Amino acid sequence: LCSRRLHPEPTVVSVGGARFGGGNFGLIAGPCAVESEEQIFTAARQAKAAGVCLLRGGAFKPRTSPYDFSGLGAEGLRLLIAAGHETGLPVVSELMSAAQLDAFADVDVIQIGARNMQNYDLLRTLGRSEKPVLLKRGVGATLQELLLSAEYLLAAGNPRVMLCERGIRTFDTFTRGTLDLAAVPALHEMTHLPVLVDPSHAAGRAALVTPLALAAAACGADGVMAEMHPDPLHARCDGAQALLPEELAALSQRLHAVREAC
Ligand code: PEP
Ligand code: MN
Repeated sequence: LCSRRLHPEPTVVSVGGARFGGGNFGLIAGPCAVESEEQIFTAARQAKAAGVCLLRGGAFKPRTSPYDFSGLGAEGLRLLIAAGHETGLPVVSELMSAAQLDAFADVDVIQIGARNMQNYDLLRTLGRSEKPVLLKRGVGATLQELLLSAEYLLAAGNPRVMLCERGIRTFDTFTRGTLDLAAVPALHEMTHLPVLVDPSHAAGRAALVTPLALAAAACGADGVMAEMHPDPLHARCDGAQALLPEELAALSQRLHAVREAC
């Protein structure tokens, strides 16, 4: 079902006014985690002003250490949705377990994170939902494995699937992961599904996010998801990779320029 050879027409995923795929490009941004009402409303207004089309914010955070801040849970989702309503932005947030599905009723796009890319039971459950899914590539997953995970969603009946390259595990430790930009044209060859790029988790460093995002657009990505925080130094999660609001606004402008040039 995900094969481009069998289904050559590109899939366009629409969420509110946002469109991804088939020549449509969208910028997704927001903080790694929803931390407070003030933080997410400020971030949402800044994202809106920058020209973002979909607001991100984690409420259930998969953290490497069980002692780290793991999000505000259902309250975080409530704040994210409220901030989205105020700014007119649809929202995306990560779901980690089928037990959380009811809490995501008003979330516009469900994100499946790198850690759950191969949680097939969860994929089957989301395949029976009508919500768009942003499926992130596992850090050790091949493109074929990513596509087969997407196939679980499609086979269960949900055609609104977007893929996201977010960096894979290699031997270098300077960056958090290694952004596999070849995945963008390669996946476009293999599948009709939209292909997005998350340079923030790939790089782990704010200074690298803008160049990688621009390169992703030049490679034909259908969207970019970048982390932005009103006050990165005090972020409770992933502050080192968060763009400042003004950096996000500059990136948004430059993405337009790159897309026009390509
Ligand atoms: C995220 O986008 O918040 C996230 C945790 O990303 P990943 O699943 O790619 O690590
Ligand atoms: Mn993060």
